[in-house]
Amino acid sequence: MPGGVNSPVRAYGSVGRDPIVIERGKGCHVTDIDGNEYIDYVAGYGPLILGHAPEQVLAAISKAAKNGAGFGMPTLAETHLANMVINAVPSVELVRFVNSGTEATMSAIRVARSATGKSKVVKFIGCYHGHSDGLLVQAGSGATTIGAPSSPGVPETITSQTVLLPFNNIDAVATALDQNDDIACIIIEPIAGNMGCIPPKDGYLIGLRELCTRHGVILIFDEVMTGFRVAYGGAQELFAVVPDLTCLGKIVGGGLPCAAYGGREDLMRLVAPDGATYQAGTLSGNPLAMAAGAATLESLVTGEPYALIEQAAGQLADGLIEGASEFGIDLHCARVGSMICPFFHKGPVENYEHATACDTGRFATFFQAMLDRGVVLPPSQYETWFVGTAHDQQAIEQTIRAARESFSIVASS
Ligand code: PLP
Repeated sequence: MPGGVNSPVRAYGSVGRDPIVIERGKGCHVTDIDGNEYIDYVAGYGPLILGHAPEQVLAAISKAAKNGAGFGMPTLAETHLANMVINAVPSVELVRFVNSGTEATMSAIRVARSATGKSKVVKFIGCYHGHSDGLLVQAGSGATTIGAPSSPGVPETITSQTVLLPFNNIDAVATALDQNDDIACIIIEPIAGNMGCIPPKDGYLIGLRELCTRHGVILIFDEVMTGFRVAYGGAQELFAVVPDLTCLGKIVGGGLPCAAYGGREDLMRLVAPDGATYQAGTLSGNPLAMAAGAATLESLVTGEPYALIEQAAGQLADGLIEGASEFGIDLHCARVGSMICPFFHKGPVENYEHATACDTGRFATFFQAMLDRGVVLPPSQYETWFVGTAHDQQAIEQTIRAARESFSIVASS
């Protein structure tokens, strides 16, 4: 496997060591093959809002598996999860399940191009929308971590169709839409989570909505990370801004490979076989993934877990800020609900330029010190930490104690 991993973000290159290899997880803990146990804030990069191996999800997967792992024919499990998604996410009137966030964003863009007859896509610098060719430009996250924010191997004919703009700057969007009449869509992480966590400025998403409506441009919210995480209805519920199309992933599959795209009915009716815009998938709507997704959403639908997580995540963020200030370390701790990112930087952090000005050397020292104290974080300054329902008081307090000791090491190194 290149780099010994099946996705580059799993490598520990930027924190200067080899990755730990995981044997199992339960609740908020993972155990590596050497028997070391860690409190985990990677959370599978987002899907595991209920922690590792939650009983209700295990039971649902096991029940589904006994009936067969997939048919290539419709099942009621798909209808069930589709109804849950439509009821949950304000913009979604019709939904199509796919296997990864990459497929969801790629497919949503195809729909937008098909609907508008236009070809260009606006994307924001530092936002990651998966690894399809046109979106792999200044794509944050893993690519930024390895120092190659745009990928070789993508033809210029494709990247020339992507218009790059700074995140959180509404004037830049207004100018781009005024100057370019070939823009099919704007795709955005409504809360950026792949250059660390960067919330939208007040009014920014509403501004995007208004500009898109005025110019006949399709607004796509990539809620692969934020969907069912920052609120049951995602960032669009939290900020009360309704996009035309929405991409989902991670939590919607309860930890199994599953994602989705959906939105306005007139747009989604363009998708085959209702329309001619082609998109397909042998494993799409896989019954095990549908069962895991539905069991996860059923545990979240009351909204209660979000209040619990908000409390835990708030306590953690406060603890990080206090610990850093005790040792005179500049730290900007960004947080929206359960998404947290402590930037080693005074702040503000409103865009990619600000995010990449942080001290990645200090992050690497902090990461190693936390690992030595039994806390595993995503191995990059440009990733978001995820708090979930399994992070109980004891885990949060233990993490804050470990962080305080780790800050003292950062301060003296
Ligand atoms: N969109 C966002 C916002 C993501 O965070 C990710 C993955 O982290 C993707 C899309 C791509 O999803 P996947 O890795 O399932 O292809």
